[in-house]
Amino acid sequence: MEKKLSGQTAIITGASSGIGAGVAKSLAAAGANVVINYPVAGAKAGAEAVLEEVIGAGGNGVAYCCDVSSEAEVKKMFADTVSFFGTVDILVNNAGLQRDAAFETMTLEQWNFVLGVNLTGQFLCSREAIREFLRRGVEPGRSRAAGKIIQMSSVHEVIPWAGHANYAASKGGVMLLMKSLAQEFASRKIRINSICPGAIQTPINRQAWETPEALQELLTLIPYQRIGNVEDIGNVAVWLASDESDYVNGASIFVDGGMTLYPGFTTNG
Ligand code: NAD
Repeated sequence: MEKKLSGQTAIITGASSGIGAGVAKSLAAAGANVVINYPVAGAKAGAEAVLEEVIGAGGNGVAYCCDVSSEAEVKKMFADTVSFFGTVDILVNNAGLQRDAAFETMTLEQWNFVLGVNLTGQFLCSREAIREFLRRGVEPGRSRAAGKIIQMSSVHEVIPWAGHANYAASKGGVMLLMKSLAQEFASRKIRINSICPGAIQTPINRQAWETPEALQELLTLIPYQRIGNVEDIGNVAVWLASDESDYVNGASIFVDGGMTLYPGFTTNG
C-alpha cells in the first residue's frame, strides 16, 4: 500500500527522546526517510535506539548529531541530508528545553540558553529548510507543497507561565516566527504550522507525572482527564506533513486535551 509520505525525507530535531522520538517513528511509519537529530554525544545511544526501532519496523533513516543553536552545524546537517537522501521535504523543529528560575534570579545564561535552542534553533533550521525547498520547488508526484515545516511550540505560546519566563517567551516567539514565515512563503508553496502540545508524558516534565499526587494535580488542568502521549503528537505531525492538510498554513494546532479551555471556569469560575 502506498504510504502518505513515501519517498519524502524529514529532519526531526531533538529526536533521541520524548516527542521528537515519537514523531520520528510516526513519520517513518508513514514512509518518510527520517534524520533523527540529537545534540551531543551523550544522546547518541538514544538516537540509535530510535533508529533501530524505525528500521525494525521497516522504515529508513539515520541518526545525526547537531546542536540546533549552532549555525555551522545546522548548515552541515542540511547539506549532509541532501547528499544522503537527495533533498529535504519536511522539517520538524522539535528540539527544546527549559531552564526554570524565578525571574528575579534568572541569569542571562539561563535566558540565552533557552532562547538559543528553542527560538534561534528554529530560525536556523527553518532558514536552511526553506532554502532547500525554494531550490527544489514543487515536483509533481512528490507533494503538492515544495516543503512543510512543523514547529513544536506549546500551550505556553498563549498561556503565561510564572517561573518559566524564558521558556514562555521562546514559545511566544515561535508562534510569530511560524506565522510570519507562513505568510512570507505561502505563494511559493511552503507550508508552516505549529503543534502546541499540552502535557505530554516525556522526560521534560517528569516531575509533573511521576507520582500519583503530581499526576492528580496535573489532571486538574486537563479537561479530557488524561496525560498525552507521544503518539498523540506523531499522528498530527504525519497529517501536517502530508497532502491531506494541503490547505492548512500558518495554524497553531493545540493538542492538549483542552488545557487551553480555561479549565478553572468548568464549574462557573
Ligand atoms: P525531551 O527533553 O524529551 O526532548 C527535547 C529534545 O531536545 C531532547 O531529545 C534533547 O536532546 C533535544 N535538544 C536539546 N537541546 C538541543 C540542541 N541544542 N540541539 C538539538 N537537540 C536538542 O522533551 P519533549 O517533551 O519531548 O520536548 C520536545 C518539544 O516539545 C520541546 O520543544 C518542548 O518545548 C515541546 N513541548 C513539550 C511538552 C510536553 O508536555 N512534553 C509540552 C509542550 C511543548
